[in-house]
Amino acid sequence: MSNNYTRHVLASKAEQLTADYKTRNPNYKTHKGMDFIDYAGKCVITAVADGVVDSCRSDVIGVDHKYNTAGNYVRIKHPNGIYTRYLHLETGSVCVKTGQSVKAGAKLGMMGNTGDSYGKHLHFDVCVAGVYVDPLPYLTGAKGFGTNTAQQPADEDEPAYPELRKGDKVILAKAPLYAASTSSKKANTVTGTYYIYADGIINGRIRITTPKGCADCTGWVNAADCKTDKPAPTQTTALKVGDRVRVRDGALTYSGEWLSNWVYDTVFDVQQVGTLSKQDYIVIGLNGQVTAGMRAEDLIKM
Ligand SMILES: [Zn+2]
Repeated sequence: MSNNYTRHVLASKAEQLTADYKTRNPNYKTHKGMDFIDYAGKCVITAVADGVVDSCRSDVIGVDHKYNTAGNYVRIKHPNGIYTRYLHLETGSVCVKTGQSVKAGAKLGMMGNTGDSYGKHLHFDVCVAGVYVDPLPYLTGAKGFGTNTAQQPADEDEPAYPELRKGDKVILAKAPLYAASTSSKKANTVTGTYYIYADGIINGRIRITTPKGCADCTGWVNAADCKTDKPAPTQTTALKVGDRVRVRDGALTYSGEWLSNWVYDTVFDVQQVGTLSKQDYIVIGLNGQVTAGMRAEDLIKM
């Protein structure tokens, strides 16, 4: 069997889709990537494009549906704020290091079944400026990964956006508001504090909502108009078990779930500290009960 991909995440180039990206997957609307297997059982994972290994992990053993959901993984940084991730790799198989430059086709590791995984497969996703986007056009070649040279046609690259993530607070000043990502006519102008409503920069626009956790989308604004007031990331090493922390206003859980409003007004105990460099997580709770797994950058030490 074959596919029409011009870029590949398996050395065999015989990627077989087992779970599609959310917009094409009515049964899995939260799926931020594409899952692949290779029926021939050849499971060498390869870099889809040139880049630099941004973070990786190889010591997760077995499945973990709660904290180390990525399992063993490689994350590659490409130009223009584009990242690709390769998740659930086999324990001990990751053969690249953080900071290492890789070329398209370079071996990263072996397909596995670690983290939030229900069988051996590769989860591949593409993140542009903090938002997971449809990987398919990047695999078919319809979209480019950008380049640091001047040779690449400019219109093939995604423009650079501020770092935005679902739930992030954004400050807008007389920003045009649109009813849809494709509307040419602005419906209104918005000024003030809003929150990112959902993943996905589409046609350069992103959805916003008024209160955090709101079920309703206010409309679409240009991603470039969104100013964030994210604090500088807290170093993981600054937090240890037993520390008292608050949750940054508007922050989501490690896995991207909304939190109840009371969480933001509560001081928690740090119950567990992850040892990862970039994909770190901190378990917080009260009176010995776990409340949530969080990113260190979303916690403020008291
Ligand atoms: Zn997946």
